Amino acid sequence: MITGLAPSYPFEAPASEALFDRAQAVTPGGVNSPVRAFRAVGGAPRFMVSGRGAFLTDADGRDYVDLVCSWGPLLLGHAHPDVVEAVTAAVARGTSFGTPTEGEVALAEEIVSRVDPVEQVRLVSSGTEATMSAIRLARGFTGRTKVVKFAGCYHGHVDALLASAGSGVATLGLPDTPGVTGAQAGDTIVVPYNDLAAVRKAFQDFDGEIACVITEAAAGNMGVVPPEPDFNSGLADLCREAGALYISDEVMTGFRVGRAGWFGIDAVRPDLMTFGKVMGGGFPAAAFGGRADVMARLAPAGPVYQAGTLSGNPVATAAGLATLRGATDEVYAHVDAVAAQLGALVSSALADAGVMHRLQHAGSMFSVFFTDEAVLDYDAARRQEAFRYKPFFHSMLSQGVYLPPSAFESWFVSAAHDDGAIARVADALPAAARAAASARPEGTA
Ligand SMILES: *Cc1c(COP(=O)(O)O)cnc(C)c1O
Repeated sequence: MITGLAPSYPFEAPASEALFDRAQAVTPGGVNSPVRAFRAVGGAPRFMVSGRGAFLTDADGRDYVDLVCSWGPLLLGHAHPDVVEAVTAAVARGTSFGTPTEGEVALAEEIVSRVDPVEQVRLVSSGTEATMSAIRLARGFTGRTKVVKFAGCYHGHVDALLASAGSGVATLGLPDTPGVTGAQAGDTIVVPYNDLAAVRKAFQDFDGEIACVITEAAAGNMGVVPPEPDFNSGLADLCREAGALYISDEVMTGFRVGRAGWFGIDAVRPDLMTFGKVMGGGFPAAAFGGRADVMARLAPAGPVYQAGTLSGNPVATAAGLATLRGATDEVYAHVDAVAAQLGALVSSALADAGVMHRLQHAGSMFSVFFTDEAVLDYDAARRQEAFRYKPFFHSMLSQGVYLPPSAFESWFVSAAHDDGAIARVADALPAAARAAASARPEGTA
């Protein structure tokens, strides 16, 4: 019942294992979000007790260079003094009022000023809520029902969007999830990523029925798969011709790959955008926004209902605002440089060990695929030799580097990743690359 560490794992973590035992007794799978559970790599997940800058410390007192950064939000690193100060001050003033506050206005202004297509924005508490609400709004605005999404893109655990949803689902090997009805998924059309012809065909097959196309601005939930140069602009064009809305999900890329997120890189104007992760500074804050005429349909200005007891929470908005104010051009230049440097180190270590691989970047997001082909879509991502990731991951972990516990996730760095952190990763890579080289598929000797 309880998963102790198999002897082949390079080191034991008794305190984490004991906590995991307790967790499994009271929580399904012992975690509150599936990808944390180490199912794809085996062993007990590390229970973390603190974070500082680029480092995490676990319950056994070991520290790790963190290349997950809470799955993206911590652009400034752990416990950044400005964020801690803003949060502490906000908490002392009261944790929630159920009324409008100035902090919400300031955070909305910051988003609107950074991302040109966002004329109006509504704050929510998670990326899931943002995409769910954006899709409801798109349906309410167009009076249409169907939604086009891409295989391998993840938009949170929205019922209608849990068809072919990338990492978490792929990692668990669930083709679809029980609990989502045919009616909920039946209005979702799933097409391959980076395949404009398939989108064109969907618009022909469902003429006048498509409310919106939703896409990750650059895909990061099947590993990092950037859009082909004409892909996002092609989507925007097809949507415009068909009277559908183009929704760019920037929950992961927003305020991470640059001041204006992926929009700042490709300049393709969406009708609606969704944000989360970095804009919450490690707290539950997210948002959706876009064209003023579309957003005007949202309650109480318009008829499309949307609400939240803790939406725009004063502590979360303080954390988000402090994070965005600290996310300067220098920070973006730094994370770009660190990501490029780490990517090159990973690549050269794997090459030295003779491991077939491909490094893919989208701004400062990057990931490695154990394959020799360019990965343009989910099928290609899944063709990689994912079995090599498990020993690679555990070797890095044992040497004090915390990677995403799945081969289908982006790696993230922060403003706090300095030469010391990079050196530790560099030192760990050769042994991890050799472990990847000697990996064999499950079930073979
Ligand atoms: C993380 C993520 C979401 C979901 O956000 P949550 O806050 O986990 O609900 C949605 N879209 C994308 C692209 C994401 O990376």
